Amino acid sequence: MIKRLCALPLEDLGFVPNLEADFIKNPASLLEAMKPPEQKTTTGPPSSEIFDLCQGSFFTFPYKNDQTRTVRLRRVIFRSNGIIGRGTMVIRVECACRNCPSKQCDWKKKKLVLKMSFPSKTRVSERTFMDRSKELAQGEHAWVSNHLPDLIWSFDIPFRDGSPQDNLGKTFKDYEMRVMRGVILEELKPLSSLKTARECAQVFYDIIQCHHWVWKYPRILHRDISQGNIMVREKNGKKYGVLNDWDLAIWLDDKRDGPTSQFRTGTKPYMAHEQHSSKWKGPHRYRHDLESIFYVMLLLVCLYSRPDEKLRRPRTEDDQYEEWHQSDDRFLYDKKHRTVRADDWEPPVTTFFFGFLLWLSRLQRSMRRGFYERGDAMQLVPKALHPEMNFFDEDTLGGHLSYESIVSIVHVFEEEELETRGREWQLHLDNLRQNQIG
Ligand SMILES: [Zn+2]
Repeated sequence: MIKRLCALPLEDLGFVPNLEADFIKNPASLLEAMKPPEQKTTTGPPSSEIFDLCQGSFFTFPYKNDQTRTVRLRRVIFRSNGIIGRGTMVIRVECACRNCPSKQCDWKKKKLVLKMSFPSKTRVSERTFMDRSKELAQGEHAWVSNHLPDLIWSFDIPFRDGSPQDNLGKTFKDYEMRVMRGVILEELKPLSSLKTARECAQVFYDIIQCHHWVWKYPRILHRDISQGNIMVREKNGKKYGVLNDWDLAIWLDDKRDGPTSQFRTGTKPYMAHEQHSSKWKGPHRYRHDLESIFYVMLLLVCLYSRPDEKLRRPRTEDDQYEEWHQSDDRFLYDKKHRTVRADDWEPPVTTFFFGFLLWLSRLQRSMRRGFYERGDAMQLVPKALHPEMNFFDEDTLGGHLSYESIVSIVHVFEEEELETRGREWQLHLDNLRQNQIG
């Protein structure tokens, strides 16, 4: 069996097409992969074992005008917990300059990563969303480019005819056909690179402003807010929060009914609580993403003693958020349902992040009011009987979980204003201040 497997091209093994990795053909490197972790010579995230062996391999992909380009793989910086061939991977790469015009490589000076994912064939690509956003990010909207990822190149590689995937698709009519999608991006820094609580606050405020802009202008909904998708860009000595990874985004005005996986998306610990309920039938609204941002903040400021340092302390009642990373939908629904409705709620914020306590309390209070009002509205008019009489604004949870209500909380951190990036919010906040004085 091993002999037959070794004779197969990599894509027939369900592996990445065009990857020149010799580990599968080379018994010595396979032995390396079978060693227990403490004996391993390679480093990196524990879940990326196989790809650690790919360091130094070459990967060739289609480029402009029917040409190809080749990169050399470096360290795996992210791999989602999923089967290879389904989950997303981010690998640091450099141009191998095999197919570069001689002496002038346009990628040489850039810090690049390759993101590989395996989305359904029909899914709109991140590139399409970002191209549309960049088109509109002109003039007074130019600021938003600082907060969006910079996609340098992207390509799809379909699984070829006769591949296992292709055969499954022919045999089972409802099999979801996928492609390998690669994106070359500039490398961004993770949240853990930030030095102060105030920098973290600015990054959260930035991505909220970015999320709003993208919702309002190109009409895109992100739908996968997580700690890993909030990144940092350093430019001319300044730091900007970047809302990264638009793989699960949708056009807001696209009303096609997708399969279940189309609306129930996200990264578990951060998903809005309703999404954990089996009764939930969508639609995914912008306030669900705002609720996710709340959980990202909550878990960060309760589980980290600094942005780059996770708390190490024995499990106590206070430590409950630790479990959110390993729990199922039922558990998370229950915990989050309680969190957003609790009276006198006070999260165990660490000293470093103490300034976030006020934000979190105010955000939670807003949500609590919203969910109670919605509960009342639904009791007053059972929706099933009189759908036309339901006046409750689901999009913003009766106004309590709107962009306006969030911005009014998070534009100030520890009594000092943060930077408001766009003209629109600057005017909005000016008006608010004038009304307060008046
Ligand atoms: Zn090159």
